[in-house]
Amino acid sequence: MTDPSPGSAADSQAEVLLVAIDGPAGSGKSSVSKQVARRLGFGFIDTGAAYRALAWHALDHRADTSDSASVLDVAGDFDYAISLDPDDYWVHVGNTDVTTAIRDPRVTEAVSGVARVPAVRRWMSALTRRLVSESGRPGVVVEGRDITTVVAPDAPVRILLTAHPDIRAARRSAELAGLDARAVADALHRRDAHDSTVVDFLTAAPGVDVVDSSDLDFEQTVDAVLDVVRTVIPLQAGARDER
Ligand code: C5P
Repeated sequence: MTDPSPGSAADSQAEVLLVAIDGPAGSGKSSVSKQVARRLGFGFIDTGAAYRALAWHALDHRADTSDSASVLDVAGDFDYAISLDPDDYWVHVGNTDVTTAIRDPRVTEAVSGVARVPAVRRWMSALTRRLVSESGRPGVVVEGRDITTVVAPDAPVRILLTAHPDIRAARRSAELAGLDARAVADALHRRDAHDSTVVDFLTAAPGVDVVDSSDLDFEQTVDAVLDVVRTVIPLQAGARDER
């Protein structure tokens, strides 16, 4: 984890419009955020990918991901890069393309351990702010667990994307066809329970708009998010609303 030279959230927001989207696992955050970014001509950052990549890196070094000191030890040479292009998405650790590997169940199991280390969280927040401020885009859609509250509490658009727990579990099982649906649901609820002890993404902070996708399909959810964006920022200044 080399110093990401953090700009403040305020600095980055002066130049780049930040759309902050938080939510639990299986809420559709990633796919919805990516599509919203496409429609607006914005960049897209999936902050969970960085935590997953660090968990992948720790497992690659056979580190104990439940032990903070071991995590910080291997984090020393964590060389991370991510694409902000919603149409050309990749995640690299050093020279390795880990875009697919970070979705492995063994990484998903390990990631919460990595994400609870305070120094890791501070580094990830600074990294995200730097990626936004250096994006070269009119705006960036940033999704995660603590974007509306910690990473960019002053962002002009802040949304909590949620869905009923059973629906989230069913969606995740459908994505991971071939795995036992009950085991997938249990793992998802376990991860949410663990993650929500570190940061609250199950209730909206003051001023955060809630979009509940329980009864919405994908395009309806994208439209609901875009409706919130439109009420807050005029779609000008380089942003395009493509349908
Ligand atoms: O979003 P995704 O499920 O890929 O996130 C993977 C993990 O990264 C989460 O379970 C959580 O532990 C961590 N995370 C976090 N803060 C964020 C984004 C993700 O702690 N902003």
